[in-house]
Amino acid sequence: MSDTLLHLYEVLDAAFGPQHWWPGEARDETIVGAVLTQNTAWRNVERAIDRLKSANVLTLEVMRTLDEADLAELIRPAGTYRVKARRLKALVLWIYDRCDGDLDTLFAEDPATLRAGLLGVPGVGPETADAIMLYAGSIPTFVVDAYTLRVLRRHFVIDDAARYDDTQALFHRHLDRDADMFGQYHALFVELGKRFCSPRAACDACPLRDWPRDASL
Ligand code: SF4
Repeated sequence: MSDTLLHLYEVLDAAFGPQHWWPGEARDETIVGAVLTQNTAWRNVERAIDRLKSANVLTLEVMRTLDEADLAELIRPAGTYRVKARRLKALVLWIYDRCDGDLDTLFAEDPATLRAGLLGVPGVGPETADAIMLYAGSIPTFVVDAYTLRVLRRHFVIDDAARYDDTQALFHRHLDRDADMFGQYHALFVELGKRFCSPRAACDACPLRDWPRDASL
């Protein structure tokens, strides 16, 4: 399995190149982006982030005291904006409760304890928690999304019953825990899913077209 996962990574990395997701110096923006990206395309998140930047409120410190209705209005382009504003406020307040907003302290916590804490915040599920830990905290936890599950199922790496935790465990068991590689790997899955592996697969042009796959595609 290690060879399979490494080979897959290498093929995708060669096809798409470095994805440069969320550089480490913008941790507040990364955390906010991880919530805003739930159930929407990234271009909508970018529009919402631009509005937050223009209003000078894209820091956890400012967002902590920002009125929830004002926050909702600013992030309107990200969709389901009232729900997301509530989730963002809950997350920011949780971070301040936990470590007074000190992200170095937060990300120095034991990863399992931190993840459990994040999962206790309303609206933070496994994908959001892991994205925050990986991209904002450089903690090597693998982020699984719908694209990852679809690609791996179509190529028989996982079976239909496999869910988030099973799939994440597969990557943790068979690859070195490397935050840079995990960050790039997840970004490559997203690129693959967006460009080729939508529900209606475009296998003929896909970099994985020669890999054994579901014959019905
Ligand atoms: S070859 Fe087809 S099934 Fe495999 S990742 Fe590409 S589009 Fe999806």
